[in-house]
Amino acid sequence: MSSCLFCRIAAAEIPAKVVYQDADLVVFEDINPQAPLHCLVIPRRHVATLNDLSPDDATLVGQMQYRAAQIARERGYAEGGYRTVMNCNADAGQTVFHIHLHLLAGRRLGWPPG
Ligand code: AMP
Ligand code: ZN
Repeated sequence: MSSCLFCRIAAAEIPAKVVYQDADLVVFEDINPQAPLHCLVIPRRHVATLNDLSPDDATLVGQMQYRAAQIARERGYAEGGYRTVMNCNADAGQTVFHIHLHLLAGRRLGWPPG
């Protein structure tokens, strides 16, 4: 999807502070961080929303969660805690329509979210 912001970041057509990448995933710092650590984990392949996942994507989403946990551990947040979030569509506030997992850490995170 040449018009998709996160596809373009994954293709390195738009700059981002990339913290991890492999054949399936790219992780980069959120441009408007909401916590001392705020990264976005995205698949390289375009999937617009969680509603567009197929059963074959279960491993991909598992990779996204696993990678977030690894980065949280590397940054020293495993014990203190962190949050991963995926927003879907308008009521959840999704603004970029290429699925992404937020990884937030480094401050006390309120619950329930706003
Ligand atoms: P969401 O509201 O769940 O769709 O989250 C989209 C996130 O993408 C927001 O936290 C934005 O700050 C972030 N974002 C938007 N544009 C960029 C960009 N060019 N580089 C990094 N993060 C971005
Ligand atoms: Zn995309």
